[in-house]
Amino acid sequence: MKILVINSGSSSLKYQLFDMTTGDVLAKGLCERIGGEVGIITHKRPGFEPYKAEPVLPDHGAALSLVLGIITDKELGVIANIDEIEAVGHRVAHGGEMLKKSSLIGEKELEYLYSIVDINPLHGPPAIKGIEACKKLLPTVPQIGVFDTSYYSTIPEHTYICPLPYEYYEKYKIRRYGFHGTSHRFVTGECAKVMGKPAEELKIITCHMGNGSSITATKYGKAIDTSMGFTPQDGVMMGTRSGAIDPSVLTYIMKAEGISAQEMDDIINRKSGLLGISGVSNDCREIWEAANAGNKRAELAMKMLVGGVKKIVGSYLAEMNGADAIVFTAGIGENDYLVRQLVCEDMDYCGIKIDVEKNAKAPKGTFNDITAPGGKVKIFVIPTDEEYMIAKDTQTIAQNLVN
Ligand code: ADP
Repeated sequence: MKILVINSGSSSLKYQLFDMTTGDVLAKGLCERIGGEVGIITHKRPGFEPYKAEPVLPDHGAALSLVLGIITDKELGVIANIDEIEAVGHRVAHGGEMLKKSSLIGEKELEYLYSIVDINPLHGPPAIKGIEACKKLLPTVPQIGVFDTSYYSTIPEHTYICPLPYEYYEKYKIRRYGFHGTSHRFVTGECAKVMGKPAEELKIITCHMGNGSSITATKYGKAIDTSMGFTPQDGVMMGTRSGAIDPSVLTYIMKAEGISAQEMDDIINRKSGLLGISGVSNDCREIWEAANAGNKRAELAMKMLVGGVKKIVGSYLAEMNGADAIVFTAGIGENDYLVRQLVCEDMDYCGIKIDVEKNAKAPKGTFNDITAPGGKVKIFVIPTDEEYMIAKDTQTIAQNLVN
């Protein structure tokens, strides 16, 4: 079964074509600058040089049409005909309160996605555009949505309701939703496999740390808490996002600087976090370099990041009465040994002992067990693969449609 996975951004469209009989990625690529004067497409196939071109891509439909042309092209392609694509899986950041699991996107689901654009203004519209383009170009192929939020449908009410007047939940659906769920679900599953036990018997803390970061607690196979909330802005400090902050700071700055809600939103999303503190970059590699050269603000930024993650990990240990494993994943989690070390050190009281040497030597972006001898809580580095998880869900749903 061949499955196309689509991840649409506001001006980009990422794709991966899977052969699910082998699990192989046949081709993957990225269309950028959709809607711009000139677009960019990068198309990769295992064993071949990447193909790059600069076509005009007025909208997501044009980008998808180009992708379908390329993957069936005699020279660049990997399949003979688009009929070989049996289903399309879409990464959708927000499934609201209705779409609690991966689902076939029919009229009702699409209508619902439109209805929650208000609470998901950045990621909602491009996801809808991607789905609509696929429906148009592949009208007989099932379109399946895989929602980042759905992993969190098990979070209890007392954890997801925000402590504001209850009417805001009723009126605007203001609540914590959680994001990155597909990644947390994937690495939690992989962690259970490595531990040789069903997830239903384990308590796992997963740290997805990339440009955007979130930490999730999964108890006996169900997510019970996560650091992101109503938006992906909540929780730990990130590349350019502040993460959780005293809400009164925002109203104070807005008044003091005479800025609008939109401008404040921009500050907490694009100018804060590691970038805002270090003044150097949003990229840990550059911040460490500056810190090592004596830049105090760069050092402060990394201390804040590590301290914030540690606090959340600690709170989940309290919430779950301990943990069987802590998993690090995504750009920072898979590659930055020092961040992992600083998060885990001095936690032996809780049974967490990191093997400092093994961790420092762990090859980047690969599976690693970095637990020190005697550590009660396993510490793993597990590369995430959201696209594969999306393809898997898509396969399951598509097969059920046939049966
Ligand atoms: P996104 O959230 O955009 O998907 P990624 O998961 O790709 O982000 O993570 C990007 C971040 O990962 C970079 O900003 C950088 O801080 C960090 N990172 C990536 N590679 C390395 C590396 N080799 N060493 C340290 N940090 C890295």
